[in-house]
Amino acid sequence: MKFVSEIHPPSIIAIDGPAASGKSTIGKRLADKLGYLFFDTGLMYRAVTWLALQRRLDLGNEAAVTTLAESVPIEVQPASQPDGRSCDVIVEGVDITWETRRPEVDANVSAISAYPGVRRALSAQQRRIGQRGNVVMVGRDIGTVVLPDADLKIYLDATPEERARRRYDEIIARGEIADYDEILAKVIERDRIDSTRDVAPLKVAEDAIVVDSDKLNAEEVFQQILVLCKTTHRPYLGFMS
Ligand code: C5P
Repeated sequence: MKFVSEIHPPSIIAIDGPAASGKSTIGKRLADKLGYLFFDTGLMYRAVTWLALQRRLDLGNEAAVTTLAESVPIEVQPASQPDGRSCDVIVEGVDITWETRRPEVDANVSAISAYPGVRRALSAQQRRIGQRGNVVMVGRDIGTVVLPDADLKIYLDATPEERARRRYDEIIARGEIADYDEILAKVIERDRIDSTRDVAPLKVAEDAIVVDSDKLNAEEVFQQILVLCKTTHRPYLGFMS
């Protein structure tokens, strides 16, 4: 048996950042390239919000919403259909992936995500999945709270104006009607709630690398993150027989 010391590429990759910063698109592409699991934690908060709305819970009733988050298993799985989704969201055997994208979910998800009990329930599940490794996990608190020992932490940033412009362009490209000022106001409001909440607020982890995507297109951001993956290594120390 001999002692070996080797280097390996990052196994646990955390990507955090504000709403509409492109985390999901880039994270999914990176996971596909590396053959890793892609896990979008925002979908879990969205699923709880949608379920609470569907069950007509009083969203201001923290105890009721927390009980819901604790009791309903939310499965985030690899995308089963090529319809633009990054993951499947399954609850009690039903695919609710697109329901989690509804405007009423957008409007309420940040308030629901601020409940400490909801965060406790969902972060525990996310941590269990993340710690298995070979994963790209995206969210708001992955590098700070869920997986503080991640091998590579990226904070993907862009100004609210740029993020709102991208959202606006996406909606227009789908042939739908959009109001830029309204989108910008919503982005700013979501940032405010996400970064000022008491538990696990959106912030840059001390050891995260900030990628500012304001002046970069999606391809340039992807290439920059790929370079970070190639230059970040985790040590492996162990015995080989
Ligand atoms: O990333 P996405 O915009 O889908 O996330 C929806 C919401 O879920 C965020 O605005 C935030 O309030 C919440 N969230 C969170 N922590 C995460 C992921 C998402 O609080 N790790």
